Amino acid sequence: MPAAIIYARVSTSQQERDGSSIDSQLAACKKYAKQHKYSTLKVVSESHTGADLWDRPGISQARELIRARKVQVLICYAIDRLSRNPAHLLILLEEAERHGARIEFVTERMEDSPEWRLIQYVKSYAAELEREKIRERCTRGKKQRALSGKLHRASSELYGYIRNHNLNRREPVEHEASQVRRIFEMVIAGQSARGISNILNSEGVPPPSAGKRTFADGRLANWNPSTIWRILRETSYCGRPIAWRWQRATKGKRLERPIAERIALPPEVCPPILSPDTWEAANAALRSNKGTLTRNLERFAMLRGMITCGTCGRALVPDEGSYRCNSRKLIATHCGNGNMNRRKIEAWVWESIEELLYNSEPFDERIFEAQQKHEADETSTELARAEAEKRISALARGEQRILRLIAGSDDADFILNAETQLRQLAADRARAKADIENLERAKSTQIESSSHLEQLLQWTLTNSERPTTPEGRREILKLLGVKVSANKTEWKISLSLGARTSDHNMLVIGSQVQTIVIASRAA
Ligand SMILES: [Zn+2]
Repeated sequence: MPAAIIYARVSTSQQERDGSSIDSQLAACKKYAKQHKYSTLKVVSESHTGADLWDRPGISQARELIRARKVQVLICYAIDRLSRNPAHLLILLEEAERHGARIEFVTERMEDSPEWRLIQYVKSYAAELEREKIRERCTRGKKQRALSGKLHRASSELYGYIRNHNLNRREPVEHEASQVRRIFEMVIAGQSARGISNILNSEGVPPPSAGKRTFADGRLANWNPSTIWRILRETSYCGRPIAWRWQRATKGKRLERPIAERIALPPEVCPPILSPDTWEAANAALRSNKGTLTRNLERFAMLRGMITCGTCGRALVPDEGSYRCNSRKLIATHCGNGNMNRRKIEAWVWESIEELLYNSEPFDERIFEAQQKHEADETSTELARAEAEKRISALARGEQRILRLIAGSDDADFILNAETQLRQLAADRARAKADIENLERAKSTQIESSSHLEQLLQWTLTNSERPTTPEGRREILKLLGVKVSANKTEWKISLSLGARTSDHNMLVIGSQVQTIVIASRAA
């Protein structure tokens, strides 16, 4: 039979309400103990108004018994009889739990009360703050370590090396280092990242993550193009070790930091396993040909990915001599568009674009306009971001203030109100954080768009050699954001000046109604 202590209290300043006199509280508690088959070891009661927990002799007695593990239950009539202050409640609840005891109330369940919710909230808020602090400390420590020219400890080992912990440097492991060299050589020979990862997987070469990572869905670690890319971009391999390359982004993803932010380490912490020339050659190859052996380039098509079906909206896929609607494989929803003459469409698209670029002056102006609009967009994104950051720190200050007020308060109404406010503030803060993420995404699209426009302008202004190869033409079409839609009766070109994400400055430059297509096809 668990032993219990009964605790009752009245505040002298408070009007004794019905059912809250010491006697009625004690009677209710005793009845409760009997019903739950607790043996009552002790009964304490006090009359007290002070806010301080440590000033209450009755409560101090109860806590002593709990700490001595003489009682397993503290019975109290209602939460506000024990304390109205969530900080005090939190202390009492945690102390009881630590000593194998629990606190029970006759009239309510702690778990259903607003005080409980507030306690939970304060606990999670405190935990979040603590986590933030730890993260911040770790990051600072790691950066400090990198700045002083040392490898940081907690990273997984760079592929090709093993760590010598005594000397705090990396040392090449030959079986991995030779694969690294091979990867660089294969790229120089024209292989794509995908091609290389396929080769390594088919040979059963263990990937860098083998044995270091387990996947939730049980699949095995594999080489993939991003592993290859990461290796090719790693300057440590050619004697230029850097730290501070990666940062944690949301959802456990890693983001590469801008080059300017990275920290160079002294070369002796990581001896090279290939020459700087090899490194540069491989990276140049990667940039220029993106792998000459990729499937896409084997089957090059000028309009691949830019042309859709004018009837059903699906992609038109290039074939030997035609573009064909992707729906052709679907019996039920085949839209009925047959083969469309690839040569004719490509020629018409290029002619229209050439006409626009070389023979229509207002086009330059439109590019200028678009560029100016983009610049304005970038500025306003930047301002909105600064605004959101200010909002976040104001909200955090508000939260801190309320938490401080709660700790010093014994007023039930105030505490209830505070809980609502805290939730509101936390929700606002989450919204502001999401805003910032969106703005950052918008910003990077805008920057990309602007650089497209700049290239395009450069190209039209200098009016340099007109591209004669389909590959060169495709580059221009990409800069213009060309979209083509085509079916048996109508072909259409539209373009979006750099704005890939929204359609608002999409501009239709030409359309051609081909009513005789069927006839010419029959011929
Ligand atoms: Zn279709």
